[in-house]
Amino acid sequence: MRNPSASGDILVLGEVRSGRLHRVTLELTSKARSLADVLGGEVSTLLMYDRIDRDPRTIVHYGADRVTCVRDERLRLFDQEVQSTILSFVIGSTGPGIVLAPATTSGRTIMPAVAAMVGTGLTADCTGLEIEAGTGLLLQTRPAIGGNIMATITTPDDLPQMATVRPRTFAVPEPDPDRVGRVEELTLPDRCFESRVEPLGHEGSSGDDVNIQDRDVIISGGKGMKREESFRLLRELAELLDGGVGASRAAVDNKWIAYSHQVGLSGKVVAPKVYFAVGISGSVQHLAGMQTSGLVVAINKDPEAPIFRVADIGLCGDLFDIVPRLIEGLRERKGVSG
Ligand SMILES: Cc1cc2nc3c(=O)[nH]c(=O)nc-3n(C[C@H](O)[C@H](O)[C@H](O)COP(=O)(O)OP(=O)(O)OC[C@H]3O[C@@H](n4cnc5c(N)ncnc54)[C@H](O)[C@@H]3O)c2cc1C
Repeated sequence: MRNPSASGDILVLGEVRSGRLHRVTLELTSKARSLADVLGGEVSTLLMYDRIDRDPRTIVHYGADRVTCVRDERLRLFDQEVQSTILSFVIGSTGPGIVLAPATTSGRTIMPAVAAMVGTGLTADCTGLEIEAGTGLLLQTRPAIGGNIMATITTPDDLPQMATVRPRTFAVPEPDPDRVGRVEELTLPDRCFESRVEPLGHEGSSGDDVNIQDRDVIISGGKGMKREESFRLLRELAELLDGGVGASRAAVDNKWIAYSHQVGLSGKVVAPKVYFAVGISGSVQHLAGMQTSGLVVAINKDPEAPIFRVADIGLCGDLFDIVPRLIEGLRERKGVSG
């Protein structure tokens, strides 16, 4: 049975990065909405920022009943201590039954500390969340044992039930501009901003720190690419299709491409409209990062490669023959010279 004192309310930790509302906030809010509808509870989304590029009210259109904004100059740089304290404070004062947070770098840093502060557990990197019929418990599903099994975890004894979810795990539905909800500014005591962290400065990420998660088309290369220079082919193809370049862990481990391009269990979860897997066998760990893509095109010389089982279009043959022909065909169509 569910802990009888559990509220049906869900608190979502939103993310604002350098003034930009991260899309994962909308993904988690709309997922929380569907869970709260089962429980008959409310959805609140918490935002902490110094500036923001969108009206926080937008989040109401994706399912929040309340958007709580903590706006303060002291939130300009990410500080794990401050953000953990604020989230714990809000949990303590509102008593949600469930807390959902993004499994981004900041979410992953904050949430274990918050779990310790409020004395509950945390399931990281969930790929599925449901409410169990009868008990109302949150079923938190995530890959386990190197991605070979899916484990469903519950937190029957401690509150709140807390989970992190990777960006792009859940889709963002169409907004409902007629939905009504409250947007409130929360002023917190100075002690919430106390920290032992002394920021020395802030450096932006390098040009190679691409976000392939925002791309509609991704061309990923694996061990079959054989060497770093071959990725030039994938970049050409990506440019013609206005896409980004991804990779399997084998390609990243071989240092053919930076880790920020890795797709999979220990890389990024992507859901583009079209995903090309080039010279990638289709291990469960790779599939964990791309299986919700729209159309999957696999290019592999091994007809038995597991990637063909998830592919919508399978091209069986040598990639060094197929990819240049695709590039040539696209150039002809677009009237671009090589
Ligand atoms: C805990 C854990 C986490 C992991 N996380 C990830 C992750 O995030 N992402 C990830 O990708 N992997 C991850 N892995 C590794 C994963 O198990 C595989 O080892 C990896 O995905 C294999 O990469 P690959 O498909 O590129 O290489 P391989 O499995 O070696 O496949 C290469 C493929 O290329 C094909 N090929 C070769 N030459 C050609 C050619 N000329 N033309 C056409 N096809 C060709 C071959 O037929 C083969 O199918 C993880 C493993 C563990 C244990």
